[in-house]
Amino acid sequence: MTDGWLTLPGMARAPSPNHNARPPGTVIDLLVIHNISLPPGEFGTGLITDLFLNQIDISVHPWLENVRGLEVSSHFLIERHGQLTQFVSCHDRAWHAGVSVFDGRQACNDFSIGIELEGTDDLPFTAAQYDKLLSLTLELRSLYPLNHVRGHSDIAPGRKTDPGRCFDWAGYARDAGWSEQALPEHTQDVTANSAPPSNIPTNPTT
Ligand SMILES: [Zn+2]
Repeated sequence: MTDGWLTLPGMARAPSPNHNARPPGTVIDLLVIHNISLPPGEFGTGLITDLFLNQIDISVHPWLENVRGLEVSSHFLIERHGQLTQFVSCHDRAWHAGVSVFDGRQACNDFSIGIELEGTDDLPFTAAQYDKLLSLTLELRSLYPLNHVRGHSDIAPGRKTDPGRCFDWAGYARDAGWSEQALPEHTQDVTANSAPPSNIPTNPTT
């Protein structure tokens, strides 16, 4: 991997025109998790890939008027059955985060890598998706100094809600070995719940 394109087993490549150069000298230190489905709540339509390649036929569903003319992308997409596709070299800036801020730094596309999970805010993601997300995360962390992971909603609050309440932050953090400092603040209660606080007696009957 010298060109920013990964070669994990089974992954596909679909180069998207929707990218440009990161600012010179950018350190890529943030991972951003999203969800997307097109139309919302329908899976396996192939329309996400079409959208990222600017090849979407918006006449196939009325909702798709909402994405007319949009030029967007993500570095990675993980579909429901675990298929992983890369659309943009990690060296380049994909267009996934939009207006966003992380730790006082604007325009998170500049310094982040984006992963889309096919899904919605209100449906659990699949085991196959978590498996692929885990291997992708570990690979990316071996290549880039990713010190933090955030949901899209964490960096664009009030504007974005993905990956949504069904994303299993605790399980993902545990499996991928993210440190507490790397995670969004809202996940820390959840992850802390995996063991009861030592100063509170547990009820032996439950
Ligand atoms: Zn998003």
